Amino acid sequence: MVRDLLVRYGVTGGSHDQHFLIDEDILDLIADAANLSKNDHVLEIGGGIGNLTQRLLKKAGKVTVIEYDPYLVDVLNDRFGDMDNFEVIHGDAVKVDLPSFNKVVANLPYSISSPITFRLLKHGFDLAVLMYQYEFAKRMISPSGSKEYGRLSVGIQHYADADIIIKISPSAFSPRPEVWSAVIRLEPHKSPFPVKDEEFFLKLVEAAFSQRRKKLKNAISRSIPSEEKQSILNQLPESLMSKRAEELSPEDFASLANTILELKEKAGGI
Ligand code: SAM
Repeated sequence: MVRDLLVRYGVTGGSHDQHFLIDEDILDLIADAANLSKNDHVLEIGGGIGNLTQRLLKKAGKVTVIEYDPYLVDVLNDRFGDMDNFEVIHGDAVKVDLPSFNKVVANLPYSISSPITFRLLKHGFDLAVLMYQYEFAKRMISPSGSKEYGRLSVGIQHYADADIIIKISPSAFSPRPEVWSAVIRLEPHKSPFPVKDEEFFLKLVEAAFSQRRKKLKNAISRSIPSEEKQSILNQLPESLMSKRAEELSPEDFASLANTILELKEKAGGI
């Protein structure tokens, strides 16, 4: 039982986003959702006391955990240190060198949700099963046109198919967080519009949503740093430029970013 482990190791949680999942059925569901086999090398971010790690070790060929809290690194080593398929890296998952892996499964520390997710997506993997704060998860999967659709939705959906598998009540954790959570399944896909310059694409999306009530033509103007700005803006499709950011799909943004770069190249502005 997870509660017994918390008592045995004297772990109370709280700091460093330490809300431990104590609901055994949900822990099983998360481990099952990753469809693990002995060919898989799983990366877990934030192993805690190893409640999820234990399940992953049973199913996967290898499990590497990145854990920030040195005491919990000791707990993980105490529990699994003699297993050949277990490895723990002490450090901040946003900063340490990532090991090789093909799947990611984690009850994420919510304060690093955005940077760690984009880090993992840029790195690449086959499948991820990750827990987030529910509101954050909803923004990740929101389609264009909806109230929650924004920068996060475009960024995530550009890289991957994202679905909520289950919404989780605070009572499934110890100590109880104030918010609901959700588990998301992320499966990277090839964007139908490959993005020529990822940094510019993300900058364009950020500019568009920073003034989401404005028409795109006005909202993105400052993200085109070139003397030919006006001429480029005039050549962009009116069908997109007269819309607001929330009406554009991730593919629309990708194609727009590519077109702007092509026009800048033509004008010798790069
Ligand atoms: N896997 C456990 C579970 O499901 O109950 C613990 C999850 S708890 C929400 C988050 C874990 O991430 C904690 O063990 C915490 O110490 C660790 N953590 C917090 N910030 C971290 C970071 N930047 N890098 C790696 N681990 C971190």
